[in-house]
Amino acid sequence: MIATKHAFSRVILVSALLMLALGWRALAEIRAGLPPEIPWKGRSLSLALEPGDRWATPAERARFERTPRYDETIAYLKRLVAAAPEVRLVSLGKSPEGRDVWMVIASKEKAFTPERLRATGKPVIFAQAGIHAGEIDGKDAGLMLLRDMTVRGTKRSLLDRANFLFVPILSVDAHERFSRHSRINQRGPAESGWRTNAQNLNLNRDYGKLDAPETRAVVKALDRWKPDLYLDLHVSDGLDYQYDITHIFNGPHAWSPAIARWLGQHWVARTTRDLEAMGHIPGPYLALQEETDPAKGVVDGTAGIRFSQGYGDARHLPTVVVETHSLKPYAQRVLGTYVLLESTLALLGSEREALRKAVREDEARRLTEVPIDWKNSEKPGRITFKGIESRVSDSIVSGGKRVEWTGRPVELTLPFQRVDVAKATARRPAAYWVPAAAADVIERLALHGIRMERLSQAREVDVEMDRFTEVTFEPEPFEGRVRVTASSLPEKRRERLAPGSVRVPTDQPLGTLVMLLLEPASPDSFFQTGFFHRALQRAEYAEGYLMEPMAEQMLAENPALRAEFEKALRDDPTFAASREQRLDWFYRRTPYFDERWLLHPIGRELSARD
Ligand SMILES: [Zn+2]
Repeated sequence: MIATKHAFSRVILVSALLMLALGWRALAEIRAGLPPEIPWKGRSLSLALEPGDRWATPAERARFERTPRYDETIAYLKRLVAAAPEVRLVSLGKSPEGRDVWMVIASKEKAFTPERLRATGKPVIFAQAGIHAGEIDGKDAGLMLLRDMTVRGTKRSLLDRANFLFVPILSVDAHERFSRHSRINQRGPAESGWRTNAQNLNLNRDYGKLDAPETRAVVKALDRWKPDLYLDLHVSDGLDYQYDITHIFNGPHAWSPAIARWLGQHWVARTTRDLEAMGHIPGPYLALQEETDPAKGVVDGTAGIRFSQGYGDARHLPTVVVETHSLKPYAQRVLGTYVLLESTLALLGSEREALRKAVREDEARRLTEVPIDWKNSEKPGRITFKGIESRVSDSIVSGGKRVEWTGRPVELTLPFQRVDVAKATARRPAAYWVPAAAADVIERLALHGIRMERLSQAREVDVEMDRFTEVTFEPEPFEGRVRVTASSLPEKRRERLAPGSVRVPTDQPLGTLVMLLLEPASPDSFFQTGFFHRALQRAEYAEGYLMEPMAEQMLAENPALRAEFEKALRDDPTFAASREQRLDWFYRRTPYFDERWLLHPIGRELSARD
């Protein structure tokens, strides 16, 4: 752990020295040498308006060389709202720097509240762009589609059968950290925003812990507006391949099998058909098993609740992350996103009932053993992959291998590793008890829309709680927190809970999400994210002059204790040589010692059968 810490500081020191030596200016002139561009002339090019058209979006006006800033984006949307009565802008909340996170509501019936929108009986599709503000294709695609569904009228029929909620920029402050050096791996636009928000938090690691105002705003909106489908629009990094638009969602092995099957069968089939018809190359989003050896194959993952698609899976909200391919030109990526949005709206318009049925089925599921972490399946499969030829050679820079992508399309059959086996499970209790003192946790449970019963007066409850034994902190910060893992032993206890404490039943549609947040063995739990470091510290100590006579008395009165002490002295020379450890050994065996030390403050209310 210490060695890693030193290595980390060394990296920082070396980077700082390098920056001084080369100078910021010299670094700033270096441009990323992207692999060869593959020429593309898809049918979807016909969707773009001429730059001179009065309703051309800022990106169309710049022939997709540029993407508009925040103010220019909102100004365009306000012009659209003024001209189209079926569109409205609402603010979902403020960013750390005070910008509004805007959402567009597009509804033929002008149903601009969650209640009225639901009353239309039509499906609601919620799409967000710019959770990573440099990956901004979705914003420019959404502006075009909203325009075509309203003032231009070419896609008006989509709103006959569906409602559309659209967040053009989620990470609004990061979007204004605007530079031509934000996205080293990406082919356009000329300038774009940054990956993390103004607090340097990655919003797409924040869905469980809800630290950032922008994530809180969007999760509150999902809970209030209850969309039928949630699309999170990104741009990839990673390997080169032919696909220009890819998708990710957790498979049927995870927390919403019926939804995953519907997405895999219906959504993928329909969007693939529509994208291919418009000249795009859709596919699944996969990463390389080994960066310098593409022949080792590709890997699929299962997302936890820190990610949008894992969060959606856990709360039974059909959720797809869309990744356009960073090495494709901006126009191709924006138009692909447009076609995907259009295709999704059209599909939901006709297939809403089948999807609703899948959602209801998953919401009604009450597994006794809930998977909380995932590992590789033992038998990797093979996958046919629309790849790009690569050459691997020795590198004089890294001393390892270097990969060059040649730009030549090749069809590959590659090893394919899925991560779809439960690595750990937790047994479903009837409920959890969260003490009033954990107000930060209770606040977040409420933000998620989790149903709770709040105590108005103190109450004694029988619960099972975990006592941590081995505790390991990660050596580096993660998302503004320090992650921790621990082994533990369960204890049956009677706890007195203060007014304001909450009982969180697992018998509710969000029961699985509750478990993933509150079980300490779950990787995205409040415990592992760092909310309960306070339970891991000792706060009271005994003076030696008190412990000396007390220990003498304990030894005299308790032969078994004496034998245990003498054994410890024989077995552990470090212990035997330490005055403090020896006195502490006795202090821990007195009733004065803090009996809540290392106790996870969340209680499980076990069901009758336990
Ligand atoms: Zn992203």
